[in-house]
Amino acid sequence: MSRYSAFALLRNWLNGNTDWDPVWRSPEPANNYDVIIIGAGGHGLATAYHLAKYYKLGRIAVLDKGWLGGGNTGRNTTIVRSDYFYKESADFYDHSLHLYAGLSKELNFNIMYSARGILNLAHSRHEVDFQRRIVNAMRLNGIDAELLGRDEVFKFCPILNADPNARFPIYGAMRQKRGGTVRHDAVAWGYARAADALGVDILQNTEVTGFRRDPNGSLLGVETCRGFIGARKVGIATAGHSSVVAQMAGFRLPVTSYGLQAFVSEPVKPVLNTVIGSAVIGSYCSQSDKGGIVCGGGIDPFPSFAQRGSAAIMEKVLAGIIQLVPTFSSLRLLRQWSGIVDYTADSSPIIDRSPVQGIYLNVGWGGGGFKAIPAGGEAFAHLIAKDEPHPLAKAFVLQRFRDGALIDEAAAAGIEH
Ligand SMILES: Cc1cc2nc3c(=O)[nH]c(=O)nc-3n(C[C@H](O)[C@H](O)[C@H](O)COP(=O)(O)OP(=O)(O)OC[C@H]3O[C@@H](n4cnc5c(N)ncnc54)[C@H](O)[C@@H]3O)c2cc1C
Repeated sequence: MSRYSAFALLRNWLNGNTDWDPVWRSPEPANNYDVIIIGAGGHGLATAYHLAKYYKLGRIAVLDKGWLGGGNTGRNTTIVRSDYFYKESADFYDHSLHLYAGLSKELNFNIMYSARGILNLAHSRHEVDFQRRIVNAMRLNGIDAELLGRDEVFKFCPILNADPNARFPIYGAMRQKRGGTVRHDAVAWGYARAADALGVDILQNTEVTGFRRDPNGSLLGVETCRGFIGARKVGIATAGHSSVVAQMAGFRLPVTSYGLQAFVSEPVKPVLNTVIGSAVIGSYCSQSDKGGIVCGGGIDPFPSFAQRGSAAIMEKVLAGIIQLVPTFSSLRLLRQWSGIVDYTADSSPIIDRSPVQGIYLNVGWGGGGFKAIPAGGEAFAHLIAKDEPHPLAKAFVLQRFRDGALIDEAAAAGIEH
């Protein structure tokens, strides 16, 4: 892999940009691997990178039925933060945010981390009290968080609706300064390039259609649309399709899949300096580096594998954005898209062994797993390599749905992911 540097840029500029190496290979599948990861999203690619780099596992493949990063990793609204309530989540997501801060250097690929801050707006005194509780919890967990009064909110983000008679007047906000955005494609491409350079085979257009086990039940490998590929260890990182893949292996997962959509407006000059969101309204937005206003909100209210998103949610989310920033009503919408997200009962992930020996799970990220990719990859690689949970992921086990030790962030932090 050639290193990206100012010198390489200059050399290639002089050569008419004819010298760049392909960013990753397109190898033919081998007959056997030590580990197969299903799903070339951020979590699958980050896991393969960690397995190859830090656990020195020899033969690793990442299989995807489509193109790498074509799942939720390339469809999300790029927000990263660690404003969680429970210590288990706070430690995990904050570790991920720290890893994001150093990821461009680690991968030698600019992932465009922008710590522009996140403002969660409060629209009543009760909501301010609720946010005070979360800010206190975050600080007790060692995470930076602050409560802003009404005037401080408008000073920091002047484009917000300051009308005290608005339907959702702004009383204050909770802010995490280190929160912000990261370029989503760059995360997939950066991990893919670095993993490929370490010898990982990334097999795109390779759909897993089943699992093969010997008569004693031991895992032999996976059936794919390109034939059988052997492996004694297989990791599932297939987000919205996790329950489908688990079914192929003969077990059920406590996850339900929903459509989650996002929108982007035509590009405009820089007008929005931070990420804004409102749990009560159910909408959030930020401005991309290209100038578009990227908007998101809640999931469709019914389980589905249709990657579309319903018109009712679109209307609700966009009406909410216009409540927060009325001047955005004159923007034209450029694109709408959707992903399929996998929710658990407590909105927390599962990073654990599955009921089938040799099959491991990194699933249940719902609408919030992008921010978790660096830590998710690290923890999943640890689990697969050592056959024991990563210290930061000990709580995210399947058993919690049996014994009731849920980490219910949706209830505690007032957000679903
Ligand atoms: C609209 C939207 C907005 C979001 N916004 C945010 C946000 O702002 N911040 C945040 O933190 N999170 C956000 N998320 C959630 C986040 O994108 C996901 O949690 C995260 O990307 C999951 O990553 P992953 O690698 O597990 O899954 P994915 O990126 O979805 O990758 C899974 C891969 O598995 C492949 N696959 C599935 N079945 C098979 C099979 N049988 N064989 C082979 N391959 C298969 C798929 O093709 C896919 O590429 C958002 C999601 C959506 C949809």
